[in-house]
Amino acid sequence: MIRTRFAPSPTGFLHIGGARTALFSWAFARHHGGKFVLRVEDTDVARSTPQAVQAILDGMNWLGLNYDEGPFYQMQRMDRYKEVLKTMVDSGAAYPCYTTPDELERMREEQRAAGKKPRYDGTWRPEPGKTLPTPPAGMTPVLRFRNPSSGVVAWDDMVKGRIEIANAELDDLVIARADGTPTYNFCVVVDDWEMGITHVIRGDDHVNNTPRQINILEALGAPVPIYAHLSMILGDDGQKLSKRHGAVSVMQYDDEGYLPEAVLNYLARLGWSHGDDEVFSMQQFCEWFDLEHITPSAAQFNTEKLNWLNAHYLKASDNARLAALVEPRLAARGVTVTATPSLAAIIGLYKERATNLNELADAAEPFYIDLQPNAETLAQHLIPEALPALADFIAGVRDVAWEAPAIGALIKTCIGAHGLKMPKLAMPLRVLLTGQAHTPSVDAVIALFPRELVLKRLSVATRD
Ligand code: GLU
Repeated sequence: MIRTRFAPSPTGFLHIGGARTALFSWAFARHHGGKFVLRVEDTDVARSTPQAVQAILDGMNWLGLNYDEGPFYQMQRMDRYKEVLKTMVDSGAAYPCYTTPDELERMREEQRAAGKKPRYDGTWRPEPGKTLPTPPAGMTPVLRFRNPSSGVVAWDDMVKGRIEIANAELDDLVIARADGTPTYNFCVVVDDWEMGITHVIRGDDHVNNTPRQINILEALGAPVPIYAHLSMILGDDGQKLSKRHGAVSVMQYDDEGYLPEAVLNYLARLGWSHGDDEVFSMQQFCEWFDLEHITPSAAQFNTEKLNWLNAHYLKASDNARLAALVEPRLAARGVTVTATPSLAAIIGLYKERATNLNELADAAEPFYIDLQPNAETLAQHLIPEALPALADFIAGVRDVAWEAPAIGALIKTCIGAHGLKMPKLAMPLRVLLTGQAHTPSVDAVIALFPRELVLKRLSVATRD
């Protein structure tokens, strides 16, 4: 049984990198009919917040990355970590160390001065035949992991290939602080073990932790999972993705009018490929997803491609669903949607050219407000030459069949009668009715309005 996990630290939002890690872990479990576990790594009490936990849950929920187990909170598992720490001390896999922080600092300075890599010198590490110093009275020790002193720790990373680290490079890691609380790497190890994680898929900022985690797992007699370390995501400009790039939280993509399926499809291709396939559903992704086709090189974010995908998914979406997503956006602007004109019908027409939900809200807004076209725009398009044709059109509106083809025919008749080209009438109609100079086909736009509202808005032009 394949078991993967997503293990975010709740210190901020669910950002794009985290979302991709979650997506890959989720898809791998789904592909194999396994389980996907959510674990909240909240042991950094100074930086973890309930709001950040909620932001992660919201982000996963918005993306539809459903988990089978969890969320498990590390802060609620302290007793269990302490039990495991005790077994490690009992077995000799961990030992108390009384070196003070000051002593450590001095040790490091001396090592640096001598051109050596700073590391714990092993004063309190038990060795056969070694007599340990007498513990200072009244001092509580930290616990250190007794790292193997020779040999190598190696793993076949599913993304990066084989990685080998000499144990001589790793000093004895502190696994519990003097106050008894376990440290980060230790909690991860205990959890990956007890949660039965078979595949650890995470960002490659954790590569340095992996040899330490493997050694601890082995000391516990726990199976070592398979690791896949995902390369980082670069921004559009080739720099490491950061706040500077605007959208940091996945929920910001929601704010900016992206559909979750577009973001998911986009993320799926950030560092993974299936031939030339660019557009696919999550069901297809789960069928195809494997670790073999993850690229070891960094993936570069491409906003244009995300926009292209979003436009694609908007076109493919049901109008009623889009209306339900656009209505709250209008409400947030103080615009109340009424039954007529139909928001779904407006969206059906405008979604062909929109890249995001906010653009759809922009397009729909004029249909529901007391529109005052901008005087300058109006003056630009409502030129005297157009007025007679417009007057004819207004006269025709009363009786024309209320559907785009008939309205289109009426427009043609009106321009024909006055020897005008289409834009001469179409542009003032657009501006008077929607306030916008760019709209889909004007006859289709007009047909969205109730006849009376068209008459009311066009009457502005004939007022003295
Ligand atoms: N909590 C870690 C983070 O948010 C991830 C740990 C892991 O995946 O092993 O970066």
